[in-house]
Amino acid sequence: MTYREKTMPGPTILIDDAFEVELMRTMFSSTSYYDSQHYGHDDVRVALDKIYHGKCAYCETRIEPVATPQVDHYRPVNTYTGEYPPGQRQNHRGYYWLGYEWTNLVLSCPACNGTKSSKFHLSNPANRVTEAPALVAYLPNYPEHLASSASFSVEDPLLINPERKNPDIHLAVNYYGLLEPINDSPYGQATIDICDLNWDKLYENRLAVMSKIIDEINTQLYKRYRRDGLALTEGQFKESLFTIFKKILERTTVTKQYNMVGRCMIAKFEDLILPDIEDLYQRKVMKYFIEFLQTR
Ligand SMILES: [Zn+2]
Repeated sequence: MTYREKTMPGPTILIDDAFEVELMRTMFSSTSYYDSQHYGHDDVRVALDKIYHGKCAYCETRIEPVATPQVDHYRPVNTYTGEYPPGQRQNHRGYYWLGYEWTNLVLSCPACNGTKSSKFHLSNPANRVTEAPALVAYLPNYPEHLASSASFSVEDPLLINPERKNPDIHLAVNYYGLLEPINDSPYGQATIDICDLNWDKLYENRLAVMSKIIDEINTQLYKRYRRDGLALTEGQFKESLFTIFKKILERTTVTKQYNMVGRCMIAKFEDLILPDIEDLYQRKVMKYFIEFLQTR
């Protein structure tokens, strides 16, 4: 998960005459009557695609071409049910006034969207906003509907909204490729649980990113210390390590899949990469890594 700024205005398709009728129908029902042709219109998907670089806002998997990107309502619009943490079960008709609200829409892969479903937990459920702001109840895209509006300031959602909260403060990748909460962050833990961000394929994919780097470092170590007279000089070895470290850096760019892994490889190099380097050479690799960071 990576912090994203949504500075561009929402596509005009989101301002629609049908909104009022759909809102009224959704309000008195447990079903959403919002037209997915509007909030999930190509214009909306293209705009979100630019913000999220074609990656799922939650798991950071590149969605196309293996699946079709979906437009997820961060605050669920039709109904709210959930059992997280255990015992906090409640029924709620959802944030029915946010069907076409641009700041409530994120790009999601089908897996995360389906797993998240209508789960939306707060640190204190008593603070839940259950009604549309009074003055603007039936108008779309009103300032009081914005995710940043005063109307929502009382809520403290546990699911990290990558447009509102920096995930790097709450989530990190560990040695096994699993996401874990930083300092027991309840936001980090809830986000992992709600979107199931540690299911097999996801942690394996994150692990593969790290394994590739580790393999490349070990290959260069082999080349440096081979005994057939063809060993790399120390200078050549350092140069090839720097080339690998550059790849770690490139991994942090926002267009890359799982770029949180890149950020964590930099921040937690000792924990994620070094343990798989032979003991004898760990200090040397670490020394060059620090030198690389200082000279970049
Ligand atoms: Zn996803």
